Amino acid sequence: MKGEEDMNFQLDEEIEFLKKNVRDFVQTEVEAAAMDIEKEDKIPDRIIEMSKEMGLFGLSIPEEYGGLGIGMVGKCALYEEIGATHNGFTTLIGAHTGIGTVGIVELGNEQQKQKYLPALARGDYIGAFALTEPSAGSNATNLKTTAEKKGDKYILNGTKHYITNATVADVFTVMAVTDASKGAKGITSFIIEKDFPGFKVGAVEPKMGLHGSHSAEIILEDCEVPAENVLGEEGQGYVNALKILANGRAGLAARNLGSCQKLLDLSMQYTQEREQFGVPIIEHQAVAHMVSEMAVETEALRSFTYRVAWMVDQGKKVIKEAAMLKLYGSEVYNRVADKAVQVHGGIGYISDYPIERFFRDARITRIYEGTSEIQKNIISSQLKKEYAL
Ligand SMILES: Cc1cc2nc3c(=O)[nH]c(=O)nc-3n(C[C@H](O)[C@H](O)[C@H](O)COP(=O)(O)OP(=O)(O)OC[C@H]3O[C@@H](n4cnc5c(N)ncnc54)[C@H](O)[C@@H]3O)c2cc1C
Repeated sequence: MKGEEDMNFQLDEEIEFLKKNVRDFVQTEVEAAAMDIEKEDKIPDRIIEMSKEMGLFGLSIPEEYGGLGIGMVGKCALYEEIGATHNGFTTLIGAHTGIGTVGIVELGNEQQKQKYLPALARGDYIGAFALTEPSAGSNATNLKTTAEKKGDKYILNGTKHYITNATVADVFTVMAVTDASKGAKGITSFIIEKDFPGFKVGAVEPKMGLHGSHSAEIILEDCEVPAENVLGEEGQGYVNALKILANGRAGLAARNLGSCQKLLDLSMQYTQEREQFGVPIIEHQAVAHMVSEMAVETEALRSFTYRVAWMVDQGKKVIKEAAMLKLYGSEVYNRVADKAVQVHGGIGYISDYPIERFFRDARITRIYEGTSEIQKNIISSQLKKEYAL
């Protein structure tokens, strides 16, 4: 493609160093805790504290506000490592550093950045993003949460659901309707602190996987939000939400990539050790072909992820590519997880071993941050513009 002659995914020394440290941390500390996270549905405080010390909470935040100040290629390199372990941990960090903080980084004014970003970078504040409501899932323009301006405050009323990090978050990016007559252009985004009057976390929603990462309702009952906490312009909330979600897509793909690589590693080890019919099972062509397919799709996802990340760093428009990558990364992760179960046979289905956990955790990636079907809608609408007759 034109303008891509100088495409380069080379990481600088600092990021290589960080990547190695994150890998060591993930492979020793987080992996050792993975079974407990799964059983207890909780990320140990020790793991959170160590993540803070490594600066992982500041992955998306510029250096001047206390973050790591790295570009998307560097961020994906670290996300790839974080993705190679328990996806509950991966999601907690990913939701905070992605949809939970990028709104303030990209759209916040100086005052908002100074107020929130340093604490978010340290992990003293955890971030969350609250768009979805019972009536507004894929169709995020159908929000029922209202925000009415009264003096120097907005009063918010409504209920959000499925909000990742809701139980641990301090700061939420929340979308609400300020002018119902204007449809998508009547939505505004707000920064809401958990201690604002009228803000409450509702029921935690039990789920198939991602244990340790909690999704819950948030309830706004005459919730008072200072007017200075409008994020971006009034009426721009829907566009803001799309920007925040689009920004996160390369990161989610990189986390999926890390999980695929982990599943391939486990499968290559198991299929060479496990013997049936007198030979390691990888000597059976059907098994060898399955691991080959896992490797090909993982490599293809790697190339695509870093290409889109590079485009983001170059300031290129990536609406179509980011949607393609979100779609492809989620679908590949599910196919790789399915094959990993298959080559492991019975043990792939048994909960004492990590494969079945990855299989369950992979499933959400086709749904959250925009379903696979919605990504296809975005891609086709971009294609229609490119190929307009
Ligand atoms: C574990 C988890 C964590 C989440 N975290 C967050 C979060 O932190 N913040 C947040 O705001 N939201 C979050 N969500 C919500 C998530 O983004 C939505 O669930 C998702 O966007 C789908 O919305 P929905 O569940 O209402 O499904 P629906 O929109 O009702 O979709 C149901 C089915 O219909 C299909 N469909 C709908 N419309 C179309 C269309 N136009 N064309 C083709 N197919 C269509 C969908 O693809 C899907 O297959 C989370 C959800 C889960 C389960």
